[in-house]
Amino acid sequence: MNLDQTADLLELLSAANVLNRLDDRTPDVWHAALGDLPYRDCMAAAADLIRTQQWVKISDIRNAVRERRAAAASDFVGPGLSAEVPDADPDDVPAYLAALRGQRVRAASGLEQPRPVAALVSGVGRSIPAERRAPGAMSVVCPRCQTPIGKGCRLPSGRPRTAGPHRERAQAARQRWEAAS
Ligand SMILES: [Zn+2]
Repeated sequence: MNLDQTADLLELLSAANVLNRLDDRTPDVWHAALGDLPYRDCMAAAADLIRTQQWVKISDIRNAVRERRAAAASDFVGPGLSAEVPDADPDDVPAYLAALRGQRVRAASGLEQPRPVAALVSGVGRSIPAERRAPGAMSVVCPRCQTPIGKGCRLPSGRPRTAGPHRERAQAARQRWEAAS
């Protein structure tokens, strides 16, 4: 996963309140330690871990990804995706969390069924809009809504902004990245 995706992972963990440390260096440290792992596997591992652990560390994600891949290889046909992956684009963190919550409700009520393989693989390789590919939007404080590093942008009402980071924030992160590279 790239740095922007690592920031998304941190946003998910931050929203679940399982990070014991989050500052402006956290995305870089986590990316250095986990950047070799696939984004979807990391998000799915995080979704599992936040259900059972008070804190989630880098090593927890790495171990969980390894376990998930070992389990997925024996249970499912396809590129390592399991039916537990929420049915939403993990690049859209609020929608992903909503899908995860919906899935937990369905699973608890016994309605959850494994999704067909075709549905599982349909999301693989889906293109990400250019706005979302901008490096580390969440690696800077949002100049518009002043949301701190690592947190998702918020609406004036204080509710999470489902459309993702503000344009100005993505631009600021991109400019910082371009200046540094
Ligand atoms: Zn913002």
